Amino acid sequence: MKRYRSACAVLAALLVAAVASGCAGGADDGGAAPEQPAIGQQGPGAAPAGPVAAAEARVERLRKQQAARVAAARRWGLAKTPLAAPEPPAEKPHLTTREGFEVEGGGEDLPPVFTTVPTKERVVFLTMDDGAEKDPELLRMMTELKIPYSAFLSDYVVSDDYGYFKDMQARGVTLNNHTLNHRYLPGLSKADQRREICGEQDKLEKYFGKRPTLFRPPYGNYNGDTLRIAKSCGIKAVPLWAAEAFPDHMEWREWDRDLHPGDIILTHFRGDEDWDGSMADMVRRVMKTVTDKGYAVARLEDYV
Ligand SMILES: [Zn+2]
Repeated sequence: MKRYRSACAVLAALLVAAVASGCAGGADDGGAAPEQPAIGQQGPGAAPAGPVAAAEARVERLRKQQAARVAAARRWGLAKTPLAAPEPPAEKPHLTTREGFEVEGGGEDLPPVFTTVPTKERVVFLTMDDGAEKDPELLRMMTELKIPYSAFLSDYVVSDDYGYFKDMQARGVTLNNHTLNHRYLPGLSKADQRREICGEQDKLEKYFGKRPTLFRPPYGNYNGDTLRIAKSCGIKAVPLWAAEAFPDHMEWREWDRDLHPGDIILTHFRGDEDWDGSMADMVRRVMKTVTDKGYAVARLEDYV
């Protein structure tokens, strides 16, 4: 059985439940209005009460939410309406470092390095790196589509417009650490790695008021010092990625070139200069892949 239930399926189930529980039609059911309100019902104009009314209100709310999702998807030119993510897990899954991603002298209590979050839900996570392209359309698009994503920022491309990312943060996006200058960390001294990683923690705290707990090393390259230093300045986890999204294709880490429950998808804040397309084109492309394969995009920070 498919575990995932679309918002439509939930809506249908609720409607069936509402009808089965004796929920009467409204003015448009063609029937005569009762002369007197039945017991438990209230006169016209009064707020509805009771379990039936509550179910009706919930059905109506879900119907409106789904209609808004469909309209937003159409407005932004998406091939299909994105699937709604299930409720976040009550307890976050236990994360471990992916096999083959361990460091020399690891085994200590280092932040786990992973490309997929352990979950059985049909969800994937969208992460955007660096911060060079500051496209206002992306902010509007993701807000209207209600697609969650997480940013991994590198100060050298962000510092010319902190305001753009302040706006992003206000829209519910978590801003995470991707170092000050995007250097190849294993080639740096411990002192320089500390400056790159912990220096970015300080910048993010200064400009956005929060020290993140997630860190992604540039190019996905790190060594034992990287993880020990990251831990020392507040990093709890190191999410890498299982697939990368571009405006015109996907690149896959796994041999089966497919998505799996909990996979982390990487993309970048880029535009026409680097890409054959815009951020919006990239979102359309990645959402087509994700939705076609029956996945919803969930919020990484709800799971990690
Ligand atoms: Zn990067």
